[in-house]
Amino acid sequence: MNSETRTKIYKLAASLIILSVLFLFFQFTKTKKNNAAQKGDDNIENIQAPLAIPEPVFNNKSESEKVIPSAIPIFMYHYIREYSDSNDPIGENLSVSPEKFEEHLTWLKDNGYQTVFPNFFKNPEPLSFKPIILTFDDGYQDAYDNAFPLLQKYQMAGMFYLIIDKIGTPGYLTWDEISEMQKAGMSFGSHTLTHPDLKNLSPANLEREIKGSKEILGQKLGQEITDFCYPSGKHDEKVLKELQTDNYQTAVTTDLGISSLRDNPFLLKRLRIKDSTNIKAILDK
Ligand SMILES: [Zn+2]
Repeated sequence: MNSETRTKIYKLAASLIILSVLFLFFQFTKTKKNNAAQKGDDNIENIQAPLAIPEPVFNNKSESEKVIPSAIPIFMYHYIREYSDSNDPIGENLSVSPEKFEEHLTWLKDNGYQTVFPNFFKNPEPLSFKPIILTFDDGYQDAYDNAFPLLQKYQMAGMFYLIIDKIGTPGYLTWDEISEMQKAGMSFGSHTLTHPDLKNLSPANLEREIKGSKEILGQKLGQEITDFCYPSGKHDEKVLKELQTDNYQTAVTTDLGISSLRDNPFLLKRLRIKDSTNIKAILDK
């Protein structure tokens, strides 16, 4: 290699080094500028990063027996009464005898179930037992006469969805009975004022049925009402929106199934319980 070639190589190497240094310097200033320009975005990223929700820990020593359930069955009852009338197949279909109801409670207790309320879907926590939600639609008189004493006997609690305008009328619960049940740990939700088809209401009437019923029930019971039950299960986007506007937390449908804790808490599925239902079979499914 002669000296001329060597000089050429040196020059080439020197230029490469200078170019690299210039390139790195340029990159550095560019990054700095971008950072300055995106400071707002960066701040959001920095705030969001720690919010990543950790996986629930089930093997924590102090909570060794407790697990957050993945789904909760919700039983749907209407009447708890002895009833047989061939002219009223619907009424018969909606009735479970007190004896059968007591069998259900005994079976649930013997198999490790305890009652929780629909708000568990909004605020889940680790449990040491199998959870179940018992719901009673419409607020019939037998909720106090038959369901309530049996629930107390087995240390269980029910969620009763009340039709506000029916309260105190023949065949329905009175405010005094509701108050007594509330003091004993029973829970109450709105089933509207008049049990209309919510899909066919003017915006004003929809608000009256959903917000108005929440206000009346809340005032009477001295607590915020956050749980709702769609009359005949009927709902649409407008109905869901009104519930959210009025700060409800959950709503049960008449759709058949068991809702997972990941499901929309305004579309909770239920298991329709009849006098002939084998509850072991439906829970084992
Ligand atoms: Zn109803």
